[in-house]
Amino acid sequence: MGSSDSTLVIGVLLPDALGTYSDSGNAVVLAQRARWRGIPARVLDITATATAPPTGCDVYLLGGGEDSAQTAATRWLARYPALPEAMATTAVTLAVCAGLQIMGRSMSDRSGHTYPGLGLLDLTTVPGRRRAVGEVVTTCAIPGVGQLTGFENHQGVSTLGDGLQPLGQVVRGVGNGTLDRSGHPGDGVVADRIIGTYLHGPVLARNPALADHILQMATGRTLEPLELPDQHALRRTYLTRSAR
Ligand code: GLN
Repeated sequence: MGSSDSTLVIGVLLPDALGTYSDSGNAVVLAQRARWRGIPARVLDITATATAPPTGCDVYLLGGGEDSAQTAATRWLARYPALPEAMATTAVTLAVCAGLQIMGRSMSDRSGHTYPGLGLLDLTTVPGRRRAVGEVVTTCAIPGVGQLTGFENHQGVSTLGDGLQPLGQVVRGVGNGTLDRSGHPGDGVVADRIIGTYLHGPVLARNPALADHILQMATGRTLEPLELPDQHALRRTYLTRSAR
């Protein structure tokens, strides 16, 4: 693992700005699923008061929030270039909603202003005609992960560059609001070290297979499955729920 000892270090980026949807719960899920496998894990909250944000985390998490919080978060992250560099190269990064948009080249708001993103991924975001709000189900592009469930609440419509693949094909809901190369509506993005999605939930609480995929990437270990009957029941409820 990236740290000097064998502890998995999970950095929650700017929970003070991008905490609206409780996406920091993704850190709790990763840490607990690691510990259940005997892997020590530590969660670091990296707030806007940090003057030397750590660049050695094994996983970085960036959540969703309002447009103003999103632009402030982007400016803050851009001030420490070694951090975005680590997010895209040495760590595994999960970016949700505003976090996903921040990973891209640019995003525009409803008043027509365009702001630069971190440029870690070839994607752009513009405001859609209607806000996308509700439950989402997608089929995940990562082999073995299966269906993803979550909820969305965003105005942004994200277009992926030609070299990028969505994290999932949308079965229900909106997601990116654009089509993938095969003409299916897509959600999020799966790139080398960065996974992005519009799904809140927190997404890893609802989708343990995605959590384990991230843990396997971060630790380089194959993890034994965990049997959690309550979680299976909850997933079934979300995946079979018919209407919004
Ligand atoms: N402000 C962004 C949008 O509305 C992100 C919202 C969110 O993070 N839920 O598109």
